[in-house]
Amino acid sequence: MTIVEEILAKPLFSKEDLLVLLGSQNVDRLKLFEKAKEVKTTCVGRKVYFRGLIEYSNYCNKNCYYCGIRAGNSRYARYQMTDAEVMEAVSYALVNDYASIVIQSGERTGKTFVDGIESLLKMIDRQSEGKIHVTLSLGEQTRETYQRWFDAGAHRYLLRIEVSNPELYLKLHPNNLQHNYQRRLDALKTLRSIGYQVGTGVMIGLPFQTLDDLADDLLFFRDFDIDMAGMGPYIEHADTPLFKYRDELLPLKERFDLSLKMVAILRIMMKNINIAATTAMQTIDPQGREKALMVGANVIMPNLTPVKYRQDYLLYENKPCLDEEAEECKSCLEARIHMAGDTIGYGEWGDSIHYAERNP
Ligand code: SAH
Ligand code: SF4
Repeated sequence: MTIVEEILAKPLFSKEDLLVLLGSQNVDRLKLFEKAKEVKTTCVGRKVYFRGLIEYSNYCNKNCYYCGIRAGNSRYARYQMTDAEVMEAVSYALVNDYASIVIQSGERTGKTFVDGIESLLKMIDRQSEGKIHVTLSLGEQTRETYQRWFDAGAHRYLLRIEVSNPELYLKLHPNNLQHNYQRRLDALKTLRSIGYQVGTGVMIGLPFQTLDDLADDLLFFRDFDIDMAGMGPYIEHADTPLFKYRDELLPLKERFDLSLKMVAILRIMMKNINIAATTAMQTIDPQGREKALMVGANVIMPNLTPVKYRQDYLLYENKPCLDEEAEECKSCLEARIHMAGDTIGYGEWGDSIHYAERNP
C-alpha cells in the first residue's frame, strides 16, 4: 500500500494525514478522488439537489478585502430586488420542481431589511404552501434576527467562516468590531443553537494562506460538526485591496485543483453532510461543478437572479452565466449532471442527512 492508500483506509485523519492528502499528485490524487466518489455513492447517494440562488441585494455594510461588492467599491450600481421579483423567482423554482432556494445578499442589518426578509419568508411559505425550503446567506445578524427569520420559515443558513485561522482572518478584513473573527464564530454558534441546518466554508488559494491553514479548516469543519459546506477558490477582483497580491497567488488551475481536493477530503471526513459544487469552481473551469460532483459534492445552486442584476453582483471576476436566463442555465445543467453520472433530486428538499442524525 502507498502512504496515501494507508491514510485513506484510516477511520480518522490527523493533521499530518490531511497535509499529505492535500499535496497528493498523480495516482495518489486519483485514489483520493476515487475514494471520495465511493463514499458519496454509499453515504448520500448519486443524487444532486438544486438550490435556486437569488442574489437579493448587493448593498453591503462591510468591507472584506477580497469581495467585489464591498461597501468601499463604488463601481457597481447598488440594487435590491423587489418582492415581486423574488416571488417570480420562487414561482420559477416551484414550477420547475426545485424544492429549495437560497437568498443571498450583502450584509445589512437595518430594521427595514430585517423586516423585509421576514415578510418575504412568510410570503414564500404561503405561496408555495410550504413546498419550498429556504436557505439564507445574509451574513452576521443578532440572535433576535436569526430567531425571527427561523420562526418565519428559514431552515438553513450559510455563513462561511472564510478562513478558520484568526490571524489570517485579520489580514483579509479591516481590523474593527464589524469584521471580527470571534463575532463570526459566535454567529455560527447562535445559528446552531436556534436549530438551523448550518453551513459554512472557506475560500481556497487566498493570499497568505498555506496548506497548513487548509488542513486546519478541514479540522474546524469536523470539530464544529457542520451540516453543510460551501467552499471554492478565491478569485481576485480588481476593485479590491487584495488585488495587489495577485502575483503571489497560486495559478488558477492549482487553486481549482486544491478546491477539488478539499471537497474530496471533506466528503471522506464527513460522510453525510451536504457539500456544494460552487459557482467559483465553474468560474475557473467550465466543467468545474461537474468535476466537484464527481469527487463528493451533492448540491448545485442554479442562478435565478434576474439577468439585469447579475452584472452588479460580482463578488469576484469572470462569474459565469451573466447573460443566461434561468431556463438556459437549467437545460445545460441537466445534461452536465447526467454526464457526471448523477441524477437530480427534483421536488426533494435534500436536507442534510447529518442534521437529521444530530436531531433524531
Ligand atoms: N454577505 C454574506 C453573503 C454574500 S458573500 C457573507 O459574507 O456571508 C458570499 C461569499 O462569497 C462569501 O462568504 C465569500 O466566501 C465569497 N466571496 C467573496 N469574495 C470572493 C472572491 N473574491 N473569491 C471567491 N469567493 C468570494
Ligand atoms: Fe459584504 Fe459578504 Fe462581500 Fe463581505 S463577503 S463584503 S459581507 S458581501
